[in-house]
Amino acid sequence: MAYDRFGRNLHYLRISLTDRCNLRCVYCMPEDIKFMPHAALMQDNEILRLARIFARLGVDKIRLTGGEPTVRPGVVELVRGLRAIPGIREITMTTNGILLSRLAKPLAEAGLDRVNVSLDTLHAAKFRRLTRWGDIEDVLDGIQAAEEAELQPVKLNAVVVRGYNEADVVDMARLTLDHPWQVRFIEMMPFAGATDFQRLMLVTAEQMKARIEEALGPLEPVDGGRLDGEARLYRLPGARGQIGFIASVTQPFCAACTRLRLTADGHLRLCLLREDEVDILTPLRQGASDEDLRRLIQQAVWRKPWGHGLAQGEAPQDRTMSQIGG
Ligand code: SAM
Ligand code: SF4
Repeated sequence: MAYDRFGRNLHYLRISLTDRCNLRCVYCMPEDIKFMPHAALMQDNEILRLARIFARLGVDKIRLTGGEPTVRPGVVELVRGLRAIPGIREITMTTNGILLSRLAKPLAEAGLDRVNVSLDTLHAAKFRRLTRWGDIEDVLDGIQAAEEAELQPVKLNAVVVRGYNEADVVDMARLTLDHPWQVRFIEMMPFAGATDFQRLMLVTAEQMKARIEEALGPLEPVDGGRLDGEARLYRLPGARGQIGFIASVTQPFCAACTRLRLTADGHLRLCLLREDEVDILTPLRQGASDEDLRRLIQQAVWRKPWGHGLAQGEAPQDRTMSQIGG
């Protein structure tokens, strides 16, 4: 098992498959972002080899992310390869949903268990403004395809941005009345690429919850208000689905963190909001054995940090959100 020095069992690995994306969300990346050259990205065989080493270290859950994971060529075969690794119990994906109407079925057949689809509003024009390039119909079709492919339960991720979609939390929350979905509202975090915007336009989880309750009545805590992963879950009375708040900025959940992150260029990122990373891909390409890589990972994991510095005005400036994978 991979434990850090605080006794956290790190069994959940998020793998960024690419830094590329078919959208340009205002809270994630600048419109003119430059992507990494293909050769800098982990190749399929490299991802599979590292995933096998992580699985032997106790990782049992993998989430594929990006950039946009579905734009990676060969993503279906990659999922199939990951599925065949002993010890991997669950494979999920975070996606903007644009390509899901085509890919949901093959991904499910290859062994993907679930998807989180990012959708910040139900209004087409606001969706376009937030994503710069997106057509909301593609995402809605994608969500339907995910349900048909039984990639369930579908979770929707909504980043809430002042001046863009803070009023839309009500319509998004209302979706849970009729759909068995988990709609999760996310506090916007600051990274390189859009730091000032991300700080200025923050809407806190408390503000989102107050707005929903004002319109729809009191939310009931699910599971006594305990964290489910990073989300605190609630329910509208009689609803089929659940509402979650991910308050990474105002209520960090470091004690409950079980995550490791592999960036698309093969760096082990120890905390989303801290710059500490260990390059795993270079030693792998230089001929390191599985045992060497296992030791490198274990040493890195041991120094996983506790706590981010957002309250002190620190924000990671080495990568955009899309380069880390969320
Ligand atoms: N492209 C995929 C997507 O959008 O779902 C996966 C990658 S994206 C970086 C992963 C998640 O991070 C998405 O749910 C996205 O909304 C969220 N995200 C992006 N920028 C963020 C920010 N500055 N603060 C909080 N969440 C952010
Ligand atoms: Fe792309 Fe996801 Fe970032 Fe939006 S949040 S630009 S969809 S990586």
